[in-house]
Amino acid sequence: MSETTDTIFSKIIRREIPADIVYEDNLALAFKDIHPQAPIHILVIPKKPIVKLSDAESQDHALLGHLLLTAKRVAEEAGLKNGYRVVINTGDDGGQTVSHLHLHILGGRQLNWPPG
Ligand code: 5GP
Repeated sequence: MSETTDTIFSKIIRREIPADIVYEDNLALAFKDIHPQAPIHILVIPKKPIVKLSDAESQDHALLGHLLLTAKRVAEEAGLKNGYRVVINTGDDGGQTVSHLHLHILGGRQLNWPPG
């Protein structure tokens, strides 16, 4: 994972590349994952280009809470009444491939545990 802050997700925020956007406000954007791993697979990202969760700082306290509440809202709007999973892959060992903090919302099928 390279540590650049100008990623494909920054380009989606700037509308330089298309995405299927399902929610937007002044702090966050949510859009469908291009390679869905479940019937519903949506990414929630901050507009602020935080590279990864481990780079977040105390000043990001409210933003991180907002991202979780945005995930809840997006999951409700996607009809995930029976539950869902929120995942934040962090860094190389966490399997993070895009260097812009993002929450995966996965649902619409029974998800297994533990993950691989
Ligand atoms: P990570 O592996 O970093 O946790 O997740 C990155 C996610 O971004 C992957 O699930 C991948 O499918 C998704 N993704 C990568 N590039 C694009 C893109 O250009 N558009 C969309 N919508 N999703 C993308």
